[in-house]
Amino acid sequence: MQAIIQNPLDTRFTFTLQAQEGRARAGLFHTPHGDLLTPVFAPVGTQATVKAVTPAQLAEIGASLVLSNTYHLYLRPGDELVAELGGLHRFMNWPNPILTDSGGFQVFSLADSRKVDEDGVTFKSHIDGSLHRFTPEKSIAIQQNLGADIIMAFDECAPPSDRAYNQRAMARTHAWAERCLGAKTRPDQALFGIVQGGIFPDLREKSAHFIASLGFPGHAIGGLSVGETKEEMHATLEVVDAVLPQDKPRYLMGVGSPEDLVNGVLRGVDIFDCVLPPRPARHNAAMTRAGRLNLMNASFARDEQPIDQACACYTCSHFTRAYLRHLIVAREMLAATLLSIHNLHTLLQLARDMRQAIFESRFQRFAYDFLAARNET
Ligand SMILES: [Zn+2]
Repeated sequence: MQAIIQNPLDTRFTFTLQAQEGRARAGLFHTPHGDLLTPVFAPVGTQATVKAVTPAQLAEIGASLVLSNTYHLYLRPGDELVAELGGLHRFMNWPNPILTDSGGFQVFSLADSRKVDEDGVTFKSHIDGSLHRFTPEKSIAIQQNLGADIIMAFDECAPPSDRAYNQRAMARTHAWAERCLGAKTRPDQALFGIVQGGIFPDLREKSAHFIASLGFPGHAIGGLSVGETKEEMHATLEVVDAVLPQDKPRYLMGVGSPEDLVNGVLRGVDIFDCVLPPRPARHNAAMTRAGRLNLMNASFARDEQPIDQACACYTCSHFTRAYLRHLIVAREMLAATLLSIHNLHTLLQLARDMRQAIFESRFQRFAYDFLAARNET
């Protein structure tokens, strides 16, 4: 199934479903800066850099899509400066696809104080306390200056279990989605709409129907992994999966532990991002398929094994747990780089393995075995 997206004459963005097994999907999303083979995991480069790794290292471990944050880049160095310097791809020297978020989530979670009204959000910068205002139109203008391939509608993410708040936030998200569509002018960017509605199946269903009706080239599921249980997240994904059109990519925002990836693909998700891989690396933890290893542990002092015997990354091919533990204890910068390479590789390889399993019609078995083998989250 291939969908020519947006203008029928415009083939800058196309999504082709290549294989399906149950609700799991393998696809190809064509963008102006290259093809994304889905399921795909996007490392997060908040400040136009994925922490501790170079673009060359990122490419070597097989990253295809990088996410950057509108809120942060707007405040520093400023989206107009990025535009003046040729856009985000050139500024950060990442020639492959980039996705920017709308800034909404950071405004709601990071800004020092914020006031929401029907038109937008006024907030104080967490850097210097200066006053700023985001509206749907402003978010799109910033994202057009940054120039990512995939850009996101401005939305409001409410606490997952507060029904009244979710009803208000959903209504606002829907009105803002239409305004974002009206504000977008660049044809070389794909604007994704965002489904909200907390953990309430009727709200999620309504939101998915409404957002799907607007004709976005792709859809995102927002407001998850923000305090709800795993069961609630899975149930929500199932509701949304049943409503969203099959022939457009689905992006689960900010959710990316290994088991979340597997559970998401089981429920029809194509694109993931998460700050998780570099973050445990900065806390001295290595992700493995069996769970997490805290390399600070004294038991690793003489351990000559790699982090993960089954991992083919540069770190696991060249360094022992004992050496990595030494780097961590000595507070050497290389520790963060080597751990980030391993952690990112683990999620990128997992996405590639899931894709292969879907093509070979053995994904259900793969998922069952993977989830059964996890001993820690
Ligand atoms: Zn590794």
